[in-house]
Amino acid sequence: MYRPFKSPLLTRPSGSAPQPVQESILERPSKRLKVTPQETQQPEQDGNSSDTVCDLPERPFGDLVDARFTVLWRKITNKKNKIWDGDGILIVSQGYANLKDSDGRDIGRTVCKTPLLPGSTLTMSGKEIEIDSRISREEAKSMLPQKKAPKPAAVKPSTVTRPSVPVARTPLKSVQTQKKPVSMLGKAAAEFGSTPKVERPTAVTMLSRPSAAFKSPMIDKTGVPLARTKSDGKTVCLPRHDPNEPNALVMKRPKQAPPGKHIVDVVVDPNLTKHLREHQRAGVSFLYECVMGMRPFVGEGAILADEMGLGKTLQTIALVWTLLKQNPIYEDGPVIKKALIVCPVTLINNWRKEFKKWLGNEKVGVMVAENNKTRLSDFTKGKSYNILIIGYEKLRNVQEELQQGIGVDIVIADEGHRLKTANNKSAMAIKSLNTERRIILSGTPIQNDLSEFYTMVDFVNPGLLKTYSSFKKQYESPILKSRTPGATAKDIEKGQACSEELASITGQFILRRTAEILSKYLPPKTEYVVYCRPTQVQKDVYEAVVSTGVLNIALKSSESAFQMINVLKKLCNSPKLLIKDAAEGEEGTVKSLLSKVPAKDLQSAGGSSKLQVLDELLHLVRTKTQEKVVVVSNYTATLDMIGKLLTAMEYPHLRLDGSTPAKDRQGLVDKFNRTSANNCFVFLLSAKAGGVGLNLIGASRLVLFDIDWNPATDLQAMGRVHRDGQKHPVHIYRFLTKGALEEKIFQRQLTKQGLADSIVDNKANASSFSPEELRDLFTLDLREGCQTHDLLGCDCACDGAVAMSSDLTTSSPTSGSAEDDDEANDEDGDADEELPALPTFLRSSQIDPETQERLRRQHNSALRGSLSPKKNGKKQTAMASLMQFSHLDAVKLRSELKEGDNEVDGEEEDGIIRVRERAEDAIADVVLRGLVCEESSRIDFVFAKTSG
Ligand SMILES: [Zn+2]
Repeated sequence: MYRPFKSPLLTRPSGSAPQPVQESILERPSKRLKVTPQETQQPEQDGNSSDTVCDLPERPFGDLVDARFTVLWRKITNKKNKIWDGDGILIVSQGYANLKDSDGRDIGRTVCKTPLLPGSTLTMSGKEIEIDSRISREEAKSMLPQKKAPKPAAVKPSTVTRPSVPVARTPLKSVQTQKKPVSMLGKAAAEFGSTPKVERPTAVTMLSRPSAAFKSPMIDKTGVPLARTKSDGKTVCLPRHDPNEPNALVMKRPKQAPPGKHIVDVVVDPNLTKHLREHQRAGVSFLYECVMGMRPFVGEGAILADEMGLGKTLQTIALVWTLLKQNPIYEDGPVIKKALIVCPVTLINNWRKEFKKWLGNEKVGVMVAENNKTRLSDFTKGKSYNILIIGYEKLRNVQEELQQGIGVDIVIADEGHRLKTANNKSAMAIKSLNTERRIILSGTPIQNDLSEFYTMVDFVNPGLLKTYSSFKKQYESPILKSRTPGATAKDIEKGQACSEELASITGQFILRRTAEILSKYLPPKTEYVVYCRPTQVQKDVYEAVVSTGVLNIALKSSESAFQMINVLKKLCNSPKLLIKDAAEGEEGTVKSLLSKVPAKDLQSAGGSSKLQVLDELLHLVRTKTQEKVVVVSNYTATLDMIGKLLTAMEYPHLRLDGSTPAKDRQGLVDKFNRTSANNCFVFLLSAKAGGVGLNLIGASRLVLFDIDWNPATDLQAMGRVHRDGQKHPVHIYRFLTKGALEEKIFQRQLTKQGLADSIVDNKANASSFSPEELRDLFTLDLREGCQTHDLLGCDCACDGAVAMSSDLTTSSPTSGSAEDDDEANDEDGDADEELPALPTFLRSSQIDPETQERLRRQHNSALRGSLSPKKNGKKQTAMASLMQFSHLDAVKLRSELKEGDNEVDGEEEDGIIRVRERAEDAIADVVLRGLVCEESSRIDFVFAKTSG
């Protein structure tokens, strides 16, 4: 018989129940608003592409277009230091946008059919406008006619000069941030609050109140299982929650009940369901069917491999809570009584908080095994704790203890890729518990290694892929063979077939969705690949290193190649980072690599191109926005260097790297997310230190200062900012030293992404570098333009317009994972998202392809011809990913601007305005655009991609 482990009747009254704990409200105020079933709740989140909106007629189109905004405006100018001429109100109505200045005068009008977002810019009547925030009709009214309007005097034109204080736009912002959540909360509350009160009787009043325990408002929350009732001699099985409620999430029913038993609907707690997004509902159903043995595979394990930020934790909690409380077999007691969450020690606190946030303290007993004082017997033998959260290392010490008592019914291994080696001690410890229901959570289910993939599959569903040696023969070897540079067409075909077969088998219990599906909820994310021209010093050192003759050795020995790579990567960040190596390095490759480098070059101030760009970028963010920035590097020495810059500029900052004690991390994160940019402007983060759980949504801009071989590392970094709860459009700046190793790593990343996706997503695969490519890797390419772009063979004019090439769109990767019907809708949406994004760039494509372009194309096709056919698959993958970016030749842009500047004639004025408009189309971000247009800019080329 089912027995509640903690008095379920002690739950809070229904009115307050949906509220998470206080701290989470602070952290993610808009969380609940976004997960409402109706998308109509957040028109602002819909992205700025008119295509998106037009394609979806059911969207509240009118609402989006009929809106009011506070804005900043100025006359379009060529001046280097732009100032805002004033603030105003933009009224969008009936397809037109009218600009009023602060005195209420009409000063501009233009056609406007696309929704506007805070932060976006537009031009009208010779003026440049930046949207500040959306306001209500009433607010607009109050700000316009009367002089005493609450419009702050602080919004004065402010020049962009260093080291000025940020433009004071705070008061306007606060109108937005305070007003909006309140009103929307009210709206949400009105919608949800009424539902249970009005419709609750469905489940309860069917019974004639069997006992005093059913104090009415408690019933649908605490859901004490309803005793069997007879009505007309027929057994009425009452589900714990009403399956007929709108949006009820009802689990699949078993095919048949055991003899003498009845089947009852398992319905996910509506208090959780209302927070679940579409993909999360599907995820909970998927996991449920896996662990209940309802899917066509032998086993009760599953891998949830959703990308960062898709809410794996919430899906897991919904599943665990459902299993802890319900059973499709009526009156059989809950499916599970004890759940074990194993995770990296850094995530323990996060799990604890999430449980508290979604279920509160009273509903469920969550024990955290943090120190030796924790009495595990309270979990194993007692009734008050049903969930134990424990770190991987700690688990190994207590596995025997955990085997006592009634045993663990489900194990959730968070960041389960830690279990990827066959004889991993933590994996052994979990296996020793003899729990059949095992779930791995991982944002990176396979990196590149099929044997690791096998180990993880064998962990969740032992024996399903038989022995490793048979797996190796049947799948791994043919797949690997097809990826080698020398693979024949037949090999490739075989490998593909094996890959597909494996994906179809494992797709039954591996679920992976990419962050793309979040794009309809999150503010848009724009990713900029910023090519920084190396400084003269960097060029000199590069030449000196490459000319040592070690290059030839490096090509032969992987150890030397590795050293070479490390030296060049440091050099890309700053020559200064090599000082220590040159002085103290051990005799050997590194020292000989640096033997020809003049010491003064390494000491040179301003030797780092990327650091210069970062300096400028931070300055502009600081002066033009109120936003915060995360700067990520793979090297602590680089973080030191950046830290010095921040200190010199008096930018308040925090830092988290591998040496930060685990207990301090959450505090740093919370502090950063909560404080204003004035008090904490930059978060310095070591790429690998954070663990997946780090949530830095307090920032809306992120700089990837250097690049990692593994695209997952970089994606993870981006995911810290662009994730649930983010309210601002996100800008990602990925810095690359142009022509140097970094650019080539980026090219390789694009193909490696294909590899990492190949099993789970069944995307095209890729091969490794050949020796020629290795040689190319170490060569500094000083050509004009951009090598990556040339390799693409892209025919665009490099003016920021997205190039659409027919043969590429057809090769866009499609997802082939087999999923059930619930998934189908999701998958469709997903596939649409994967098509090359066509944001607002297109209207600038009127540039005539001139003779120059023809020549360039000839050059490109010659380049393409020189690539051997066997590389085509890889190239296709890379191209497909890259073609979603628009390409901008910043050098060309600047020279056009300069030409325009030199002409004083009135007619030429139009020309320069067109160039500026083009720049705006290409780079919507006012910060990066400012950087690129600077005459002395080190940015030579930009790729830009907006999603969401
Ligand atoms: Zn292009």
